[in-house]
Amino acid sequence: MSQQPLTIALSKGRILDDTLPLFEEAGIVPAEDIKKSRKLIFDTNHDHIKLVVIRATDVPTYVQYGAADIGVAGKDVLMEADSTGLYEPLDLNIATCRLMTAALKGAPEPTGRIKVASKFVGVTKRYFAEQGKQADIIKLYGGMELAPIMGLADLIVDIVDTGNTLRANGLEERDLIAPISSRLVVGKAAMKMKHRQIQPIIDKLAQAVDRRR
Ligand code: AMP
Repeated sequence: MSQQPLTIALSKGRILDDTLPLFEEAGIVPAEDIKKSRKLIFDTNHDHIKLVVIRATDVPTYVQYGAADIGVAGKDVLMEADSTGLYEPLDLNIATCRLMTAALKGAPEPTGRIKVASKFVGVTKRYFAEQGKQADIIKLYGGMELAPIMGLADLIVDIVDTGNTLRANGLEERDLIAPISSRLVVGKAAMKMKHRQIQPIIDKLAQAVDRRR
């Protein structure tokens, strides 16, 4: 029986380094070296499966609108995105890190109305509301560590892996907001229309994740 075409959206950058070996273990291998190419669309060893490699924050959008059937995205990105049109069937347990608050090393715990800089505006707003703390959220697009140094913010909310970036800038971890790893997401429409193709991919990836535990 012929297979319906399937498109899988992968997050580029750090997550991609962990995703490609896992996909290979699950039997999905790009036809060429993605990291040596400037292309955005790649054939695979399966005639009906294509990979697209895009910015992590765009993955939920492609899958939500059905332009891609399946995606790989960090939980941080998914928490910030509108994911009403998405299923999240599998924790891939890759690109693990933490979403944390951080402050200048030794600085007193801020009180009253707190200024918080982050690119995760939605998550940050929800977190401080849940804590019952008043916070003004300042949206930044990168280099969050600079904000407390320059007096722009009391705290930042950012991804921490080794903690080296914080330390190099005189900051320290404060509170854990959420442990982060990359997740497999599937469009709700795709899951309905292409279930016969998609379920075996979820199963093979789940087995690959299990073998690593
Ligand atoms: P580190 O210095 O190892 O704590 O890494 C912190 C920086 O690397 C953060 O500012 C993030 O932008 C980035 N980073 C580390 N791990 C990840 C990940 N799994 N997903 C996205 N960004 C990450």
